[in-house]
Amino acid sequence: MIQLFIPLNFLGFVYREIREALTNIERLFTLLRAPLKVVDAENAKALQLHGASVRFHDVHYRYDQGREVLKGITLEIPAGQTLAIVGASGAGKSTLARLLFRFYDLDSGSISIDGQDIRSVTQDSLRRAIGVVPQDTVLFNASIGYNVAYGAPGASEDEIWRVLELAQLDTFVRSLPQKLDTPVGERGLKLSGGEKQRIAIARVLLKNPPILILDEATASLDTHAERRILDALNLVAERRTTLAIAHRLSTIVHADNIAVIDQGEVVEQGTHAQLLARQGAYARLWADQQRERIEVAEA
Ligand code: ATP
Repeated sequence: MIQLFIPLNFLGFVYREIREALTNIERLFTLLRAPLKVVDAENAKALQLHGASVRFHDVHYRYDQGREVLKGITLEIPAGQTLAIVGASGAGKSTLARLLFRFYDLDSGSISIDGQDIRSVTQDSLRRAIGVVPQDTVLFNASIGYNVAYGAPGASEDEIWRVLELAQLDTFVRSLPQKLDTPVGERGLKLSGGEKQRIAIARVLLKNPPILILDEATASLDTHAERRILDALNLVAERRTTLAIAHRLSTIVHADNIAVIDQGEVVEQGTHAQLLARQGAYARLWADQQRERIEVAEA
């Protein structure tokens, strides 16, 4: 009986480990809403980077034959600059970011990086060039060190500490008894939204990609935490071509360019000062958010 029990027990352990790994992957894909429909072109080549300028040209997209979500978006992000996308909920901001990462292929139009259509390059080389700081960071049921080094295999412990420092997480991690080996995720230490996002920032710093997608998640953070995240985000966006999806306009006032999207179309574009002076959609969004801030402060 014991002879039988041991292998079964072992198999149970293996099964649990596999199931957990699969759950993590499933969760990752569910959260990213990745459909796994995209395939490499037969003659796909590795993306060649020369500064990483990004161009969306007349991009049209609809999910599963539904209504058109993006209706002819044309936008450019010069190498090393930041484009912030703002607009009401459901306007199509995240869809634009998902298309750049090539979770889906466009219905028509094109997205290119340094003049290469993203459909003509390998997905592997495309995704290696892009770092994502999502709204909701998925942590694996593994150690903090593993979670930071995910995406940059072979990173040394020194490198991990360096990026934790840049993401302002080093003091926190040093205070934990198991430090980098501390288990996190569902079965380990529960981290706050801000801490999880700083892990994502550290992860991106370690991966060091030339292109960055930031899906702002500061909405649920207090002001002190927001400041720390913003500092870390600004650091990570420095010298990288960045597409920043912003819900709070206060976080993107210094962006090189801001595009306002309304129902799948770009309705305004310019710097914060230019857009305020236009007294259009952006100025209205700005005034609404300022009012909300005052109401929250007075409550
Ligand atoms: P938010 O600010 O709320 O995140 P958003 O501007 O990022 O919104 P998107 O997530 O791009 O908006 O969604 C644009 C539209 O596409 C919405 O109407 C949304 O319901 C729809 N949509 C988004 N993802 C899917 C999907 N996987 N399948 C079908 N429709 C979707």
